[in-house]
Amino acid sequence: MTEHLKIGVTGGIGSGKTTVCSIFEHLGIPVYNADNRAKQLMQEDDELKKKLRLAFGWDVYTKDDVLDRAYLAKIVFNNPPQLRILNQIVHPAVFQDYAKWVEEQASLGHPYSVKEAALLIEAKSYKELDKIIVVTCPIDIRLERITKRDGIRREEVLKRIDNQLSDRDRLKHADYVIKNSTNFSLIRQVLTLHQEFLKEIGTSKSIA
Ligand code: ATP
Repeated sequence: MTEHLKIGVTGGIGSGKTTVCSIFEHLGIPVYNADNRAKQLMQEDDELKKKLRLAFGWDVYTKDDVLDRAYLAKIVFNNPPQLRILNQIVHPAVFQDYAKWVEEQASLGHPYSVKEAALLIEAKSYKELDKIIVVTCPIDIRLERITKRDGIRREEVLKRIDNQLSDRDRLKHADYVIKNSTNFSLIRQVLTLHQEFLKEIGTSKSIA
């Protein structure tokens, strides 16, 4: 495979992962959104669909063969063993899909690419990546942004934050931290990392 850096971007709900990734995209860097891709694969990948039907029953897809998200959500909501089964089925499919995607990006000559995933650490996805960026943002700002973006109550956001890994645990795996509060310019921080990744790829190429 051509020299290519695999970067991961993760962070808590509403920390700004997608916003950070959109800046990388503006710089011409390909971005793989693991959560969106998982949803797509659950709808399109026959092998994955078969496994989901076996685990959760035929009704997990409607008569028109569309994933019944509400039905699935009801099964896994507040049920860690069922959620674990769902993740054990979906995560390997996304891993495989990402591996194919990243190879394509490398062969297209991109020096690096970015994988965005909410559960990057939980899914042990960091093991397949070269560098991890953790996006952090004070809880108050996240609460304000998410209640506004999703039209949900603060208590609901807090519940979701409580169900996720803490920033403290996430940061144990961080190679870089992007601070997305009002005091730090996101664009400036992403640009600095962009330069660093290009430099790193340039260096390893000249050593090889
Ligand atoms: P989720 O975990 O829900 O997928 P996320 O971590 O991807 O969220 P974003 O969607 O990037 O977070 O950001 C959450 C919201 O906050 C969005 O509406 C986004 O436009 C806004 N936002 C993010 N960063 C900033 C910023 N620096 N200034 C103003 N608004 C911001």
